[in-house]
Amino acid sequence: MDEQLASSGPLPGDRQAVAAGADGASEQGRSGIRTTLINLIPPATLAAVVLFWGLAPDAVVEYPWTLVFMGVAILAWIQGLEWFFERHEGWRLNRREFATDVFYVVLSYTAISWLSTNLVEGNLLWIKESLGIATPWLSQLPFVVQAMMAIFLFEFGQYWMHRWMHNWYPLWLTHAPHHHITQLNALKGFVGNPVELFLISLGVVALFDFNLAAVFCAISMGSVISGFAHANVRSDPPLFYSFVFTTIRHHSLHHTALSYEDTRCNYGNSLIIIDRIFGTYREGESAIVGQDERKRLSIYEQFMFPFQPVIDRIKARRSKSAPVPS
Ligand SMILES: [Zn+2]
Ligand SMILES: [Zn+2]
Repeated sequence: MDEQLASSGPLPGDRQAVAAGADGASEQGRSGIRTTLINLIPPATLAAVVLFWGLAPDAVVEYPWTLVFMGVAILAWIQGLEWFFERHEGWRLNRREFATDVFYVVLSYTAISWLSTNLVEGNLLWIKESLGIATPWLSQLPFVVQAMMAIFLFEFGQYWMHRWMHNWYPLWLTHAPHHHITQLNALKGFVGNPVELFLISLGVVALFDFNLAAVFCAISMGSVISGFAHANVRSDPPLFYSFVFTTIRHHSLHHTALSYEDTRCNYGNSLIIIDRIFGTYREGESAIVGQDERKRLSIYEQFMFPFQPVIDRIKARRSKSAPVPS
């Protein structure tokens, strides 16, 4: 009986193959676990941010720099992940790209934020008081519900503004510089013409009486989601995240270099579910991003882009009216 078992068992060479097969399977298992963990980084980061704002004492929430520190920490975290979990070699950050990205982050946190606070929020608060808009019941809702409502309000406005930018030429001129970026990285969501950056900062959340921590939570959630949606990180979050929130797959398709027409989908900056609702959702991803000839624009070109057609027309008129040298 024992002999029978022995003879029907694997020969020494086969034994090695079996051992190698077992090693291969466990190796596969390990890399499967690793991939799953990498894919869970965006939802885990989002959960950490919600927990922070949900548990932070009032003094921390009201400290004027907390929101800024949180924003910078989120960007540093996602940017750091690009070092370890690169998605595409062609999107690897170099000094010039990084310097441009940092320039736009600073611009957004200073000039753009000053403009939207002083030109928009102040007027919204005035409108709110004049019309007697009061929604104190909102602050009684559970914290996460308030945060989700606030992010939906931000995103609903941004979705239509973004869609309008892709469908009306004068607005497209302000948004096109963002589409001229030729690679995606953690800070690329900030890169664009200042007129566009101001337009997408508009929102009506100030009209509502949400808890301050919930509004800050919504802002930080937006930073996490749109940060990962622009980052060169190979995280592909599971459906419980990607059904509702925008991922790098959705947003890279929005940035595709294939054609202008192909960019007209997946407008949701953070909430891809709005595209699913309004029929602009498209499945897929793109490794090659950019516009037209995929020419990278300098900061000067990005600033001048919306005015370029007018400048070109004036130049053409001048050269026509100039006397022809004999
Ligand atoms: Zn766009
Ligand atoms: Zn983008």
